[in-house]
Amino acid sequence: MIPFDFEYYKPETIPEAIQTYQELRNQGKKVIYYSGGTEFITFSRINQMAADAIIDIKGIRECHVLEQQGDQFVIGSAVSLNKITESSIFPLLGQTVKQIADHTSRNKITIGGNINSRLIYREGILPLLLSDAKVKLARSEGELVLPLTNILDKELKIGSGEFLVQILVKKSYGSLPFASLKKTKITKVSYPVVSIAALVKDQRIRTAFSGVCEYPFRSDQVEAALNETSLSMAEKINKAVSLLPAQIIDDIQASREYRTFVLKNALHEIMDSLEVAPA
Ligand SMILES: Cc1cc2nc3c(=O)[nH]c(=O)nc-3n(C[C@H](O)[C@H](O)[C@H](O)COP(=O)(O)OP(=O)(O)OC[C@H]3O[C@@H](n4cnc5c(N)ncnc54)[C@H](O)[C@@H]3O)c2cc1C
Repeated sequence: MIPFDFEYYKPETIPEAIQTYQELRNQGKKVIYYSGGTEFITFSRINQMAADAIIDIKGIRECHVLEQQGDQFVIGSAVSLNKITESSIFPLLGQTVKQIADHTSRNKITIGGNINSRLIYREGILPLLLSDAKVKLARSEGELVLPLTNILDKELKIGSGEFLVQILVKKSYGSLPFASLKKTKITKVSYPVVSIAALVKDQRIRTAFSGVCEYPFRSDQVEAALNETSLSMAEKINKAVSLLPAQIIDDIQASREYRTFVLKNALHEIMDSLEVAPA
């Protein structure tokens, strides 16, 4: 049970959502946007999230788009993880999000909710980092399209009253060789000890990671090491792991040493599967 009362709004258009947010804020209310709602419900039940009002963006048509438009894939923020996988629209994204939670939860969990999650994993963001994705934000001043990385500082920084409408990915990324690998502690349905998404573009491997540090990331230094042709595979991987942007997590799921071990093996597997040639 959710231990507090809240107002529920389900606007049908972007301007209606923005206006509803502003009106509620002007009344001094704490408002949050919501799409799948699984995280809102889970954290509210244990008093770790609270709101006076929620705005459910599932009624907005643009947030449900899942199609090719011209030279890009357009993925609405309220599209469920299962729909993304079943559509095969962007196979790397489909495979990566298929490893999140269980099938029933993935019917509810949305891509917008996953990449804006307060949990550290946000695995859905990995393919978006590799494919130079753009995001369309709804704001009171109108919609804005900008590179995902412009609003990413460990987590997505979306301004007050704004919300994510769509994700845009150039269609050409859909046909590049890719791999996605998630290692968990025991069961398949669990948070990652290590999750890696990778693709090969212009004969260079790109990699993005979740579960390794306190936030998902893609790193130029790590990729430079993995693409250094003068090194052996083991040397590339050791160098890449020494260049991570933050300390490796040490928690109840996995010690730092074990996570490092799993990370190196996973990188080996990824490089092998993409046939990234050793020196
Ligand atoms: C059983 C289970 C296992 C899980 N395992 C994993 C895992 O292995 N890896 C992983 O990465 N995640 C995992 N998760 C986390 C899950 O992906 C997140 O909790 C996700 O946020 C839920 O999506 P939702 O659409 O239900 O989010 P919601 O509850 O709707 O929203 C989550 C957050 O995102 C914000 N938000 C939602 N939509 C938007 C938008 N369009 N614009 C701006 N902000 C928005 C909300 O305000 C809220 O703060 C798991 C969750 C469950 C239930």
